[in-house]
Amino acid sequence: MTKNCLICENDFHTEYKHHKYCAKCQEIKYELKQYAGLKKEVKQLEALSTEFYDSLGSSPYIDASGIRTNQISDPTAVYADQALKMHRQLLKKKGALVSRLKNIEALVDKLEDSNERQIIREYYINGKTWEEICVIINYAWAHTHRLHKSALKKLSQQI
Ligand SMILES: [Zn+2]
Repeated sequence: MTKNCLICENDFHTEYKHHKYCAKCQEIKYELKQYAGLKKEVKQLEALSTEFYDSLGSSPYIDASGIRTNQISDPTAVYADQALKMHRQLLKKKGALVSRLKNIEALVDKLEDSNERQIIREYYINGKTWEEICVIINYAWAHTHRLHKSALKKLSQQI
């Protein structure tokens, strides 16, 4: 069936009655909504990384900068080697998440209208409620939501 996207107002085809947005608008909403979860994951990985460095302090086989000593014959040196490998993977994972966060931030920064940018940033990045956002930008509820829709429409045209 053909439906009309509630954000960009373009017609789109879907087999599902409950679909309200075209694929592009759906995608932009999805990506923006990922922000809070990604941020949480990065924090968790950072905590694990700190834990790793703390545990290094008690190991005689890795120095404080994470460099393994040459005591490979000792069985704990193998453990240290594995721990370093795991930690490198952890940092790689964190790097990938951080770059996704940066991409979302860069996308939001592309919005030229200051109010639209603030609405998207406060809601999706800073996790503010709609009530709080209305106070911040000093607009009524309906107008704030019009600006939100307009911002999503512009962002969906960017991807
Ligand atoms: Zn759309």
